[in-house]
Amino acid sequence: MLSQLHQLREIVQDVSAAPTFHKALEVMVREVRIALGTEVCSVYLRMPGRGQYLFAANEGLNPDAVGRATIDEGVGLVGLVSERAEPVNLEAASQHPRYFHMPEMGEEPFNAFLGAPIIHHREVLGVLVVQQREKRRFDESEEAFLLTLSAQLAAVIAHAEAVGDMANFVNANDDREDLKIQGIAGSPGIALGVATVVHPAASLDGVPDKEAESVTVELMVFDRAVESVRNDIRRISDQFAQSLPREELALFDVYLHMLDDDAITGDVRQRIRRGEWAQGALKNVIREHLSRFKRMEDAYLRERATDVEDLGLRVLAYLQDIRTHKAHFPPDTVLVGEEITPSMLTNVPAERLKGVVSKRGAVNSHVAILARALDIPAVMGVVDLPTHQLDGQPLIVDGHYGEVYANPSAKLTAEYQTVLAEDREFAEELNELRGLPCITLDGHRVLLWVNIGLTRDISRSLDRGAEGIGLFRTEVPFMAQDRFPTEEEQRRLYRSHMEAFEPRPVTMRTLDVGGDKALSYFPIAEDNPFLGWRGIRVTLDHPEIFLAQARAMLKANAGLQGVLRIMLPMVSSISEVEEAQRLVGQAHREVTEEGFEVKDPLVGVMVEVPSAVYQARELARRVDFLAVGSNDLTQYMLAVDRNNSRVADLYRDFHPAVLRALREVARNAQAERKGVGICGELAGTPIGAVLLMAMGYQVLSMNATNLPKVKWLLRNIKRTDARRMLARVLKMERAEEIRQYMEGQLIDAGLGRLVPSHHEPA
Ligand code: PEP
Ligand code: MG
Repeated sequence: MLSQLHQLREIVQDVSAAPTFHKALEVMVREVRIALGTEVCSVYLRMPGRGQYLFAANEGLNPDAVGRATIDEGVGLVGLVSERAEPVNLEAASQHPRYFHMPEMGEEPFNAFLGAPIIHHREVLGVLVVQQREKRRFDESEEAFLLTLSAQLAAVIAHAEAVGDMANFVNANDDREDLKIQGIAGSPGIALGVATVVHPAASLDGVPDKEAESVTVELMVFDRAVESVRNDIRRISDQFAQSLPREELALFDVYLHMLDDDAITGDVRQRIRRGEWAQGALKNVIREHLSRFKRMEDAYLRERATDVEDLGLRVLAYLQDIRTHKAHFPPDTVLVGEEITPSMLTNVPAERLKGVVSKRGAVNSHVAILARALDIPAVMGVVDLPTHQLDGQPLIVDGHYGEVYANPSAKLTAEYQTVLAEDREFAEELNELRGLPCITLDGHRVLLWVNIGLTRDISRSLDRGAEGIGLFRTEVPFMAQDRFPTEEEQRRLYRSHMEAFEPRPVTMRTLDVGGDKALSYFPIAEDNPFLGWRGIRVTLDHPEIFLAQARAMLKANAGLQGVLRIMLPMVSSISEVEEAQRLVGQAHREVTEEGFEVKDPLVGVMVEVPSAVYQARELARRVDFLAVGSNDLTQYMLAVDRNNSRVADLYRDFHPAVLRALREVARNAQAERKGVGICGELAGTPIGAVLLMAMGYQVLSMNATNLPKVKWLLRNIKRTDARRMLARVLKMERAEEIRQYMEGQLIDAGLGRLVPSHHEPA
């Protein structure tokens, strides 16, 4: 007897591996019926927009009713399960007042009824039902089993719904023009372009299903890849012949045998001959073999699944290598993928990249920050993105609303072209403000600085009138290397920025790795990376890294007028600041001893975690300035991972707790007469900029793209009005209320051009 856990896993695996949605439903009812030993199992699916449930799959009732019979929402026991959003377990279904008799179904002989709702993101998508003749209540463990299963199956159904499989299935909608897929607004703006699907090197999941352009070429490419892997394995085997014990060496023979034996390669060739491209054929064959191996009872054979996967990845790596040489980005590329990374984004020639759509990630993922800096519209966390079907297809990316439209109609395209033209016109208008200071209508001066990471940001930032660098993300150049950069390499890079900005101030943040920022040559593997070895914690543990960086910063600043500001990320206690100050002092002495004429830098602390908010006063007393990293501060105050799209709607910039924290930091810095700025993304949002200015933040540091918009906004508002708004907002209890109130205020003040809802296409 298989354990319940094992059974659950198998069902979910088989359902996920089914080639079509229809088959997935069939597998689901068949296997659930067997697992629970019942006579009937059915799935009812809600038909979006129809107010009905469809009898979508079944074992044990009248097969003719499947795919035809429907039941209105709110009717019968299915309706009851859905309304209550919890299981209904009955000994005799027909005696329940909500029982609804549908003669065509053939349910009469069945008494026991157990229905579980299928819920995804709080929404009931369908109902999974088992039934039995015998009059009895299903026991607790059966109920729990069905509930567990339906929670897992919900994702499969939600996905089918999103990609339109479900619409096809229920015949509700054959015309999939303007298919809207919802995500999270990652970077504002509109892009009309062609989807180019990219996937991380050698990941089977990211490989799309496509037809072969030429079967002969695909066969050749595949054979070449297999031969290369064979050579690699022989080479590795020879290399280890002396040092490895016999049993271990035998593994290489197993691999070679698998490649020679036609089981895998033969299946792939067959699929290619039937018209699939090599990568897709390989993916499908490996998946089939994997699911077969994983189901084996014998532990040794089950383990072989890993070998099959490993081999598959090796061949895929070669296939993709052959492909990447040919990688072609059309002139209006919209980069689409499971997880778009900063390096994928920087691989596309800048003039060709028009938009980004990523299945994973959220608004403050670093790739979204990068997209904003480059002024590329991006939609993140598009959980239900049918990546595989989009390659080469026209797409509209609405970065204001976080929406993606596949197969756009001429009408929608024209509407979006109008919005795009308006955006451009506004950008040109903003350009005229370039040389003007950011000063409110009642004469209050605010400094607008930039956040920078890539050298290519420099000229854009200066072009847009940045008055300084408020955050230099030094980890970005560190990430682009395959070892730590030397002190001299760092000095040159930092110097080029300081010279370009001279005599403006430059804020250099010490290396901030960990969390979601990894260096390939310095891997940090942790279960809980955002609460782990991150930012200042890493560099204090490695003073050699900290010192080299501080020395490079000081030397880069030698002889310049521009003020060097060194900023410490992820500070959570006073002792970290003291230790860092000691190291900066040491670096200063060393550099002076080497003969450089260096000024004392300003040293500041980033307020990114709640403890720093509560100790803002003590921190401010010890340093020259405070700068709030609101991206992390929001994440840590609200306990919401900034990268996790599942909880993205809990990440609220204007959460009352976050706003109160921000005000506290500003007050404490002012009480110590120290400078206070902010360099999180909040500073570059219209509502954020107004509220922060009202709180007394002197420096708002943001990406170059937002800078002109914020300048336009602040030049058109009075500080007294902003303070009045702040006072109101601080009394509010909900983020949504705050956002709506502020949007209304901006619209009333004639500043609605920056409010997204004023931007909606007709
Ligand atoms: C922040 O956390 O707000 C910040 C500016 O730092 P980063 O986004 O690089 O973590
Ligand atoms: Mg941060």
